[in-house]
Amino acid sequence: MNDDFIPLSVPFLGGNESRYVQECIETNWVSSVGDFVNRFEDMVARYVGCSHAVATVNGTAALHIALIVAGVGQDDEVIVPTLTFIAPASAIRYVGAWPVFVDVEPVYFQLDLVKLRAFFEKSCHFEGDNLVNNDSNRRIKAIIPVHILGHPVDMVELNKLARYYNLIVIEDATESLGACCGDIKTGNLSSIACFSFNGNKIITTGGGGMIVTNNGSWAERARYLTTQAKDDPLEYIHNEIGYNYRLTNIQAALGCAQMEQLDHFIATKRQIAARYQEHLGQIEGVTVAGEAPDRFSTFWLYTILIDPTITGITSRQALQSLAAHAVQTRPLWHPLYSLPPFSNCQAIDIVQANHIYERALSIPCSVSLKPSEQMLVIEHIQQLIRTGGLCRKST
Ligand SMILES: *Cc1c(COP(=O)(O)O)cnc(C)c1O
Repeated sequence: MNDDFIPLSVPFLGGNESRYVQECIETNWVSSVGDFVNRFEDMVARYVGCSHAVATVNGTAALHIALIVAGVGQDDEVIVPTLTFIAPASAIRYVGAWPVFVDVEPVYFQLDLVKLRAFFEKSCHFEGDNLVNNDSNRRIKAIIPVHILGHPVDMVELNKLARYYNLIVIEDATESLGACCGDIKTGNLSSIACFSFNGNKIITTGGGGMIVTNNGSWAERARYLTTQAKDDPLEYIHNEIGYNYRLTNIQAALGCAQMEQLDHFIATKRQIAARYQEHLGQIEGVTVAGEAPDRFSTFWLYTILIDPTITGITSRQALQSLAAHAVQTRPLWHPLYSLPPFSNCQAIDIVQANHIYERALSIPCSVSLKPSEQMLVIEHIQQLIRTGGLCRKST
């Protein structure tokens, strides 16, 4: 690969990764049982502040199992933001339930709780203890807040809503390991939560995930379901259908080494964010990502908005020009409500997600990004918008 290429976000494996993986090979403990799996679970549980953690093969599998354990099933409905990676909505469908897509707020791009409350008040009713959607006549069972881009959802407000409407909260904390609401880490702000350790996340095991909860019997059930629902240590007795969703010891070895560096990764991501805020925050037509009061963001994936009516260029044109300068950037996810697999799902008042989708651009923010490289990215963006503006005036 070209030396000058600046990637969007790549892993940093400069700690004890090789040593721990080597240890797995030397001891022959390479598969889904081993010391590193237990150690990794303990490290994540302790870090997040939860009493239980169950490692899984990836974050999507973690969400699938969390939904089963939380009792979400056939023809239940689950609230999910429309602006997120597809995994939580897919996991809802895996259990035969239906996503109901809600818009996001315009400042931090997180689930819009004002719109959600209005939907519950105006378009749902109680039948006994169950909240029922007037439109579909189905029971709404749970909310999956997704802390996108490393910034936490307002969980104080969300948990109040969930309590009032008798809904289970399952955090999709896959993008937000280390983020906090007040002093509480994401993953410990609901009944059960999921993390991902995919290659592009803040820590990586190549691929991997984790379920965390303070509910002992839920943790036990999650462990059972992720290990093929095996009921006897010797004989092949299974009393229900389980899944092969456990993480391997080799992957967990990577995870332990990555956890040792997590605080440093977060500090670096926050420095990168501060530098972007300083240098791009002044440009008219560019909106830089910030942090809500009383919340702590990891700024996992730094994302700006480019307003084409002011800057003269669209986010997609910016992406192309930056690519020509060997700078990798990416749009945010296509709002899920308008994708084919969800064409028959309900979407509540989606406005901001479409607006953000058109304008958003995630820009380089690897832990290994050098300040000089970041300044290059900043200069390219500054120049792009200067010339974009000129082009517009001349037409
Ligand atoms: C990464 C991610 C997941 C899970 O991803 P896996 O690749 O399955 O580990 C789930 N939800 C969101 C929002 C994500 O960004």
